[in-house]
Amino acid sequence: MSDNKIKAQGDCQCGAIKVSIDGPVARMAQCHCRDCQRSSGTGHMSLIFLAENSVTISGEATGYASTTDSGNTNTRYFCPTCGSRVFATNTLRPGVVAIPVGIFEDRSWFKPDVVVYSKNRDEWDISDASTPSFDMMPPA
Ligand SMILES: [Zn+2]
Ligand SMILES: [Zn+2]
Repeated sequence: MSDNKIKAQGDCQCGAIKVSIDGPVARMAQCHCRDCQRSSGTGHMSLIFLAENSVTISGEATGYASTTDSGNTNTRYFCPTCGSRVFATNTLRPGVVAIPVGIFEDRSWFKPDVVVYSKNRDEWDISDASTPSFDMMPPA
């Protein structure tokens, strides 16, 4: 768990959806689950998790809900115009929002404190060996 605060702003590719965050970070993670791979179209998603009251979202995002291997519902929201992933919620973590770091203008602050679903990590998708890594999702 990180106890640092992050303030950052970002938007989707077409600019219709804007996301700003200002508050303490619950977690920064690199997720290699198959859903993140399919949804992002690449090897993993880099995500920051914050309490929903630290997150401001403007614009209308469309959600796609799927059931995770732990039986929870992960809803991934994207811009219906440009398709950019903008945030996600998971019934495993009520009140917490996960945001893909790539939407932020400044991403220099990102440093994953955990790598999850590393069982799906591809050889070509290199991650920092010093970051704690879990085959699946560690306990919340
Ligand atoms: Zn858009
Ligand atoms: Zn994932």
